[in-house]
Amino acid sequence: MDTQLALKVRLEKDRKHIYNRSRTCLFENCRKAAIGSHVLQKRPIINSIVDNTNHFYTIKNSTLFEATAEQHFSIVKVGIDNGYKFPGFCNEHDTAIFKDIEIHPVDLFNTRNQALFTYRTICLELRKQHFYLETCESLLAAHKAIEPHKIHYSNFDGARLAIKDLVFFKKELETELRTGVFINNLFTTVELPERKICFSASLTIHDPKNKHTWEYDEYGRTKTTPLAPTTLNYFPYQGKSYIILATHRAFPCYWTRRLITNLKNTNSIDKIISDILTYRLEFWGISPDLYELIPEAKKLQFMRESEGNYDNFNFDINTNFNLFK
Ligand SMILES: [Zn+2]
Repeated sequence: MDTQLALKVRLEKDRKHIYNRSRTCLFENCRKAAIGSHVLQKRPIINSIVDNTNHFYTIKNSTLFEATAEQHFSIVKVGIDNGYKFPGFCNEHDTAIFKDIEIHPVDLFNTRNQALFTYRTICLELRKQHFYLETCESLLAAHKAIEPHKIHYSNFDGARLAIKDLVFFKKELETELRTGVFINNLFTTVELPERKICFSASLTIHDPKNKHTWEYDEYGRTKTTPLAPTTLNYFPYQGKSYIILATHRAFPCYWTRRLITNLKNTNSIDKIISDILTYRLEFWGISPDLYELIPEAKKLQFMRESEGNYDNFNFDINTNFNLFK
């Protein structure tokens, strides 16, 4: 078999194993198997972005067969039971931990509830980093197996550090949720006009003015303290949309502070949301009603803009692109 094809076949097999094998619950020391947890509540959040066949559009990351340097994802229509899920928690913890935000109406300005949304998103990001690290490891192993006469090297430090940071923030939040004393994070909820879009993400925005966002210190050494995270949850709820933002007091994120100010003081919410979807996220959901209104040329432009900034975590990404205009 041709070497490139042999590599793809092996990697695709590994990829399926990584994504399909059973995972352990992420809550504290639980050893039970994780079920597919919805990142946001199926009712009434995800079901408010579906059409009358219970489907919505979401991001699908390309498989190794489909992926190219220019295309890492596509937008696909999925059913409510198959989309916006991840193997996060066992059945017991999926129900017990989040019960306060499963009984409606939920007070989205309440600190404990803000912490619960944030905790679930941190866990989602942690699971994604597990997948990413295992994919990197399988890539190196496959190259070594199929081309043993060549020297292969891969640096997994990024994924390993991300996992270390996320475990740190996860443990902190677990302690706070248990004790009811919330001191490490600053939570902000902003009420916005309703838009049938959901996203949940935790990321670090590189800020040249903020050492807490640098992967390396001023001497070029890998950081030993966590990178400053921003954790975002945006969704429609009872006729409005809400964004819950979380930043850490000890590892502050000034990008989030500016975002909060902009969200509260601007008339161009659409542009802000469009920028987040286009340049900051790799996981979101949108209602068919809204998505199908977007002209095809605009969708193509979105793909180009998004792919062109795939690895861009810069503080400022200034463009005129607006998915909704
Ligand atoms: Zn569990």
